[in-house]
Amino acid sequence: MTTPPLKLFNSLTRQVEQFVPIHAGEARVYSCGPTVYNYQHVGNMRAYVFADTLGRTLSWAGYDLTHVVNITDVGHLTSDADAGDDKMEKAAASAGKSAWDIAAYYQRVFEDDLARLNIRKLQHPKATDYVEAMIEWGKGIEDKHCYRIESGLYFDVTTVPEYGRLARAVTEEGEARIESVEGKRNAADFAIWRTTPEGEDRQMEWDSPWGRGAPGWHIECSVMSAELLGHPFDIHTGGIDHREIHHPNEIAQNQAHNCREKSGANIWMHNNFLVDRRGKMSKSTGDFLTLQALVDRGYHPLAYRMLCLQAHYRSELEFTWEGLGAALVRLKRLVMGLRQAQDQWSQEAGLAPPPPTRADGLRAEVTHPKLAPLLEKFENALADDLNTAIALTALEEVLATKKMPKDQKGILALGMMWPLGLMILPREELRLRPAGAQVTEAEIEAELVRRKEARAAKDFALSDAIRDDLAAKGVEVMDGDPLGWDWKLEHFA
Ligand code: AMP
Ligand code: ZN
Repeated sequence: MTTPPLKLFNSLTRQVEQFVPIHAGEARVYSCGPTVYNYQHVGNMRAYVFADTLGRTLSWAGYDLTHVVNITDVGHLTSDADAGDDKMEKAAASAGKSAWDIAAYYQRVFEDDLARLNIRKLQHPKATDYVEAMIEWGKGIEDKHCYRIESGLYFDVTTVPEYGRLARAVTEEGEARIESVEGKRNAADFAIWRTTPEGEDRQMEWDSPWGRGAPGWHIECSVMSAELLGHPFDIHTGGIDHREIHHPNEIAQNQAHNCREKSGANIWMHNNFLVDRRGKMSKSTGDFLTLQALVDRGYHPLAYRMLCLQAHYRSELEFTWEGLGAALVRLKRLVMGLRQAQDQWSQEAGLAPPPPTRADGLRAEVTHPKLAPLLEKFENALADDLNTAIALTALEEVLATKKMPKDQKGILALGMMWPLGLMILPREELRLRPAGAQVTEAEIEAELVRRKEARAAKDFALSDAIRDDLAAKGVEVMDGDPLGWDWKLEHFA
C-alpha cells in the first residue's frame, strides 16, 4: 500500500479536494489564534485540537510542516465587523491592569492549555509585533481599495471581485454581527486602521499615515500569514464563525494586495462549533467552560481531546458531562489496552523503541496480514477529510486482535496514537478526582492497602469496615473492575 491521497473539505468550493502542496514535500498552514483578553473556553480549544490533528496528519503523511497560530493581542472589537469596544482595552480597564499584561497572562494560560491537550508546540506570533507591516500593507492598498472616514481607514468591499464568496450567503447571524459605523459606504466594509478618537485614551496605539491608532483585526492575519508563510500558502483554518466575516475580509485584503482573483490560501478549512443546550459556547455570554473547569471536576484534559476526536470536525459537537464521562472511559480502555500491548512487546523486545511518527515508517514495520489492513483503514480514514471517528475504531480493532506478533501489535497501536494526539498515561492520571474532594489520593491508597491486608488475613469485618468508611467519604471501592480501577469518587459530575 502507498500513502492514500489526502482529501480535505475546502470551504471556498464547498467540496472535498485533494491536497496538492504548493511547495513539493511541504505543507504551510495558518490557523487563526485566540484573542487574549479572556480565558479560552473548551469551544475555542476545539478549533486548536482540530488544527493540531490536521497538522499531525500532514506531518505523519510525510510533509514538512510549517504551522502558525497567531495571537490576537490587539484589534479585535466586541463585534467581528469593527464596531463596539476593543476587547483588549475593555478587559484591561475592568481588571485595572495594562492591556499588555492582560495579553501576556492569557497567552500563557492558552499555551498551558494547548500542552495539556497534547497539542504540539508551534510558532505563536503576536499581532502587536507586526503593526509596522500592517501599516505598510494598508499604504499599498489605500489608493485603490480604501477610503478614510473619521474613525479610520476602511476597506471598500466592492473593489474586489466576488467579495464574500467564502461565506456564500450571509446568514442572519452574520448580518447581525455587522454593526453600522458612521460614514461606511457598504455595510460589509471594515477597518484597516482605527484612528483613536479625540479625547479617548488607548493603551495600545501606534503612529500611522491615518493618525495615531490601532490596526483593524482582519489585517493581522493577512499580514502575518504573508510574512510567515508567503502567499499563496496551503491551508488556512479557523472556527466556522470566521467563514462569514473574518476570512472573507482577509481574502478581500489579500486580493487587493497581491492575489487578485485568488484568495491567498489554496484550502480554507473550518471546524464546526462546540454547542451546549443553549447553543454555541461563546465568551460573550460570560458563562462558559474552560479546560481548567473540566480538570477541576476530575477529568483529564485528554478526555476532552477524545470527545473532539469522536466527532467529525465539520459537525456540531454537543458538550455534556455524560458525553465527557463516556469519552474518558473510552480513553481509559485505550490506555489499558495499549499498556498491555506495550508491556508484552517490551518483554519480548527489551526496552521497546518508540514507534515511527510517519505513516510510511509504520507501514514498513507492520506487515502482518491481519494488522496491515487495519493500518490501511486508519490511513484511509484520516485521508478522508480527517475522519478521526473511524480512525479511532481502527485503533480499537488493533487492540482487540488476538495472538498477533507482540512487537507489531504494540508498535502499530502506539504509532496510531501519534497522529490523533493521544498518548499513554499512567492510569492513575485518568481517574476522576474532583479538585474539591475531601480525601486525598494518598489516604485512599493507604486505606486500600490496609483493606487488602485485612482480606489476605481473612479479616472480612475489618475489610468491610474500611470499605464503608471510604464510602462515607464519597469513595467507591471498585472490586473486580474490568478496567482495573480500584476506586472512584462518587457523585462527580
Ligand atoms: P477567538 O479567541 O474568539 O478569536 O476564537 C478562537 C477560535 O475559536 C476561532 O477559530 C473561533 O472560530 C473558534 N471558536 C469560537 N467559539 C467556538 C465554539 N463554540 N466551538 C468551536 N470553535 C469556536
Ligand atoms: Zn485570523
